[in-house]
Amino acid sequence: MKVYVLRIGHRPERDKRITTHVGLTARAFGASGFILSPCDEKIIEKIKDVEKRWGKLLEMVDCTNSPISYIKKWKERGVVVHLTMYGININDVINNIKDISKDVLVIVGAEKVPREYYELADFNIAIGNQPHSEVAALAVFLDRLFEGRELEREPKNPQLKILPTPKGKRVISFEH
Ligand code: SAM
Repeated sequence: MKVYVLRIGHRPERDKRITTHVGLTARAFGASGFILSPCDEKIIEKIKDVEKRWGKLLEMVDCTNSPISYIKKWKERGVVVHLTMYGININDVINNIKDISKDVLVIVGAEKVPREYYELADFNIAIGNQPHSEVAALAVFLDRLFEGRELEREPKNPQLKILPTPKGKRVISFEH
């Protein structure tokens, strides 16, 4: 199963930082792709720049100005999970998600999410039924799904690589 993350309701004038963090969280926690709606070239460039410097983990970084059509099309090939505090608690549904053999599109919102998304989703899942953040929700969902294995992936062709150290910072730089 591959997981792709669709960030909907992005407001370019106020969400740049948090939407960038959604994209970087998707990348670092095991997603294979990140799709932004509506399009904002600055965010797409930022995610691609991190991929270039720290190595390739994402198969695709894309955007759409028609998220509903995008989701309807996706449903021909895979399953849709919508992360919302109103959904079923992840503890009660994660084993069903792990059993899915198709690809999964995970939707995270920004402002109020219109009802249509709840209806299009195959699963509306809550990371606990309290309000918090799309970044936290996505990180917990992906880490529960991949059981921590996503943190051991090696990015392809990095320019920079961290050498883990108990104190200080050690980074190797590759010429290419
Ligand atoms: N009030 C908004 C709504 O109607 O959905 C929620 C806004 S919240 C700041 C932004 C996003 O964070 C949500 O769309 C959802 O994807 C995610 N989120 C926040 N709390 C969550 C929770 N407890 N479980 C799952 N996702 C959550």
